[in-house]
Amino acid sequence: MIIGEVRLWKLTRRQVREAMRAAKIKGAILPTGSTEQHNEHLEMEHDTASALYVSHQAALGLYPQVVVATPMAVGISEHWMEFPGTLSLRPDTFVAVAYDICESLQRHGVEHILVVNGHAGNRPLANHMEDFGKRLGIDVQFCSYWEAYSEDFVQEILDSGDCPAHAAEFETSLAMAAFPENIHWEGVDYEGANLKIQREGYADRDPIYFRDGRDLATPKKGRVMADEAISWVANKMQGMIDG
Ligand SMILES: [Zn+2]
Repeated sequence: MIIGEVRLWKLTRRQVREAMRAAKIKGAILPTGSTEQHNEHLEMEHDTASALYVSHQAALGLYPQVVVATPMAVGISEHWMEFPGTLSLRPDTFVAVAYDICESLQRHGVEHILVVNGHAGNRPLANHMEDFGKRLGIDVQFCSYWEAYSEDFVQEILDSGDCPAHAAEFETSLAMAAFPENIHWEGVDYEGANLKIQREGYADRDPIYFRDGRDLATPKKGRVMADEAISWVANKMQGMIDG
């Protein structure tokens, strides 16, 4: 049940000021994603959209204690630059932007920040959390939302047993459940596209991921996996707030 607005960029300055003065806002979630190729059928924004979706739903469950900061919609995606449309930040730039957002939140009085990541390439940021925490004097932590899933859970829910993979069964299922408008099968002709993938070790996986996304993904799997991630992130954030 939606009980209030938790997305920082949708609030007015009065709403934020009053919530901070009343000490209602105790933590913030910073979603990090990417703008990068997601095979032939998913939109470039998938990682950003999924991190935001999980963060938003988790924060709604913790209302009014938690706000969601504006997502970082471009990540570290150098490895996908051969696919037109991919945008990439250098790792140092990405970390610097994340720090500045955390510092902004800290200066407004937020004491617990959880980075909820949706793109595996952004993981270098995890190594900076201790440094962020020290420099800002607050609690800053990093997670990728699929860390919610145990190996057994993945094997039980996904026929491919492969998570997160890339634009395959898992991500396509999640899109089906959370934002089906981001899936575009019309006009897709994988064989006819005559792809000449250069990235070593990926050329052979791309067609497998394509088929897994097309043949195995279902909205039901996506719903189960989204809900598991939402409650896991909410618990993690609540744990940070409770100390
Ligand atoms: Zn992805």
